Amino acid sequence: MQPGATPLLPGATLGVLGGGQLGRMFTLAARVMGYKVVVLDPDPNSPAGQVADIHLKAGYNDAAALLHMGNLCDAVTTEFENVPARSLEMLARHSFVAPSPDAVAVAQDRLLEKSRAQEFGCDTAPFANIEDEGQLVAAWTQIDGPAILKTRRFGYDGKGQALVDSLDDLVAAFDHLGRVPCLLEGRLELRQEVSVVLARNAGGEIAIFPVAENRHRHGILDVSIVPAQVPEKLAARARDMAAHIATGLDYVGVLAVEFFVLADGRIVFNEMAPRPHNSGHYTLDACATDQFQQQVRALAGLPLGDSRLLSPVVMVNLLGDIWQPQPAWASLLAHPGVQLHLYGKAEARPGRKMGHYNCLAPTVEAAIALAEATRAELGIAG
Ligand code: ADP
Ligand code: MG
Repeated sequence: MQPGATPLLPGATLGVLGGGQLGRMFTLAARVMGYKVVVLDPDPNSPAGQVADIHLKAGYNDAAALLHMGNLCDAVTTEFENVPARSLEMLARHSFVAPSPDAVAVAQDRLLEKSRAQEFGCDTAPFANIEDEGQLVAAWTQIDGPAILKTRRFGYDGKGQALVDSLDDLVAAFDHLGRVPCLLEGRLELRQEVSVVLARNAGGEIAIFPVAENRHRHGILDVSIVPAQVPEKLAARARDMAAHIATGLDYVGVLAVEFFVLADGRIVFNEMAPRPHNSGHYTLDACATDQFQQQVRALAGLPLGDSRLLSPVVMVNLLGDIWQPQPAWASLLAHPGVQLHLYGKAEARPGRKMGHYNCLAPTVEAAIALAEATRAELGIAG
């Protein structure tokens, strides 16, 4: 269905596919603005289901549940990129769906997203497509040096990847990853990793958040620092590239784009997510409008909010590793400038994202110092 000429006003019903923390923060933002929210997720205790008006406890392929959701909702979005394209298409017959199934399909596949990014003028790492064993030698010859083999679909937090330094490594890694379609990427020398989160509505209006600098541990985002410690020219180029991609895909919703800053100063596209992003959680406390409210506004066809940064900030992820049984929240919250967000997950497991906190301070150096001091108190390694 097309978006109407008039926006969906508070009181309307919005739906989200997926009940994780991103769906939870979307649901909370929508309810603050007076919308009703329907969440579809099979987990009876999902983070988003807990705070929704209606939680449909069914799988993402369940045709009856999708029909029900489509009938209940005026508009539907998704909180994860691996939602089956067919499910989005089914919903789109009954409800306005954004981002479009086509845009989600691009973000689901590393080959499609890198190819489209190049069309829109972005540099990428050199890559070779591998769909079967017969293409391994040609791919290795093409990349010709240190490389990373990545599954084209379903990879996240560094999963579905292997470092490859020889043809023998490549053969073994392709086998280990299950012989599914993969990309072999040239391994670049990274100076920094940055991301851009933006929102675009059906009228083509775009609001771009400040560039975040992201540091990972064991493949999982650890901290985001904003403003990113990069030259303004480079930050401007990242914002422009992300906006180009959004416009080129006629994207509606919140889009996150990850870039690498190389040792030689170049900036290259890495991947994108068709939804709010962990590296945009700093906006919850540090921007005039946060990424989830922008998602609501974009979906509802409303004017986008002001994405201006109000304070330097460092976002720190909280993983299940430090739950024994629960971190010392009172000490953390005794620090002025700390804002805590927990996702309502009952069970803590190593590597599981349980929450995050934002450290606000008058300067980015002070925000980094606050993040370091509180991390040490919580016993976060690194
Ligand atoms: P994921 O979907 O798991 O986030 P990414 O493509 O972002 O997958 O890769 C995870 C991490 O691996 C990146 O954040 C970066 O640190 C490293 N990495 C990925 N691709 C390359 C590359 N071509 N060269 C060097 N490092 C890379
Ligand atoms: Mg990534």
